[in-house]
Amino acid sequence: DETPLLARQARQESNARSYPRRIPLALKRARGIHVEDVEGRRFIDCLAGAGTLALGHNHPVVVDAIRQVLADELPLHTLDLTTPVKDRFVQDLFGVLPAEFARQAKIQFCGPTGTDAVEAALKLVRTATGRSTVLAFQGGYHGMSQGALSLMGNLKAKTPLGSLLSHGVQFLPFPYDYRCPFGLGGEKGVEVGLRYIANLLNDPEGGVQPPAAVIVEAVQGEAGAIPASDAWLRGLREITARAGIPLIIDEIQTGFARTGRMFAFEHAHIVPDVVVLSKAIGGSLPLSVVVYQDWLDKWQPGAHAGTFRGNQMAMAAGSAVIRYLQEHDLARHAEQAGEHLRERLRAVQRTHPQLGDVRGRGLMLGVEIVDPAGEPDVLGHPPVDPALASAIQHECLKRGLILELGGRHGSVVRFLPPLIIRREEIEQVADIFARAVSAALA
Ligand code: PMP
Repeated sequence: DETPLLARQARQESNARSYPRRIPLALKRARGIHVEDVEGRRFIDCLAGAGTLALGHNHPVVVDAIRQVLADELPLHTLDLTTPVKDRFVQDLFGVLPAEFARQAKIQFCGPTGTDAVEAALKLVRTATGRSTVLAFQGGYHGMSQGALSLMGNLKAKTPLGSLLSHGVQFLPFPYDYRCPFGLGGEKGVEVGLRYIANLLNDPEGGVQPPAAVIVEAVQGEAGAIPASDAWLRGLREITARAGIPLIIDEIQTGFARTGRMFAFEHAHIVPDVVVLSKAIGGSLPLSVVVYQDWLDKWQPGAHAGTFRGNQMAMAAGSAVIRYLQEHDLARHAEQAGEHLRERLRAVQRTHPQLGDVRGRGLMLGVEIVDPAGEPDVLGHPPVDPALASAIQHECLKRGLILELGGRHGSVVRFLPPLIIRREEIEQVADIFARAVSAALA
């Protein structure tokens, strides 16, 4: 039942296209949590631009902000020259960053995508420390350029490229509780994980050279909505602070109320050295920034440039999003709505052992799909079942719900709805998911 648009896309777009393979839709219109395809079918969008659409599609405050830029004939492009729109955006952003971080913070505007901010952060810490290696985490996702890919703790996307531009990235075990890399889980897993990192940094002969930074997601997104515990993040902050290593938190997916706090690192009450931001920050338009502690600002003038660092419409939309998030306390809403959805998913799990792990924070949730008949791992958990995850995704789509997969071999069904999702819409999402699981198993 392919439309001509989809057929043309398959013929003309590169083989690298990703989402259209699993979500073969041609979208015509969108509003709030819904999108409509060219055939007039309506879907609930729990992919929402991979977590970009905090306020959903075409939220009136975002649309108005963009319209105003045009109505006032503001300069649409200014390189990195300042404007009242840009100044307001920076004040709004600094206003929602924790005061202990914002007080001494500097901002660098980057190219349009998250990857650009990761690249800038890498250059920043290397310049500031004079060191070149970086510690990253297994499963981590930081972007698709060759520098950002070198930090990617998931081999699939980088294996075909051979050796990447930047060497010297070492991967550490992420505190993935359900499949704890130390076979422990819980508090013990956290404790051993931290000791492992501390030892590595304190062993002058068998450890690692002091790195330029440690980069981490407070909740791994593409790896399948895996939260790091607060205790672990606090421990990581202590270890890196003691060793004088800048801690970069990649908040590209978690930032802006997604996890139930404005920024995910706030759950752990830590102060990072560098925060990379994109996705929701531009209110659906492309924008990315790196915000960092003043002491790292060792860049020479012009050390980081790029033509498109001044998207006025994205900044205006971003300001509108930040203000709306605050005025409506959407962080709190995301926490409560996420709790509600998680409870509903756990109810499905109680009667379906194929739902191995239901996890996440706020409205960034994942369900790891497993094969209960398979050989259990050291913690007693069955192996992943990507084919079943894919079937569930397909059955959801047939019933009007867009979800994406992530995690090992695409075995985790991920929920990233717009944060404005209402209680009754959460019920709809959960109902469709429950029916899709039954259908996929039938
Ligand atoms: N970091 C994280 C945590 C992400 O989730 C993503 C995108 N999924 C990126 C970096 C890269 O952002 P972009 O795709 O906008 O380049």
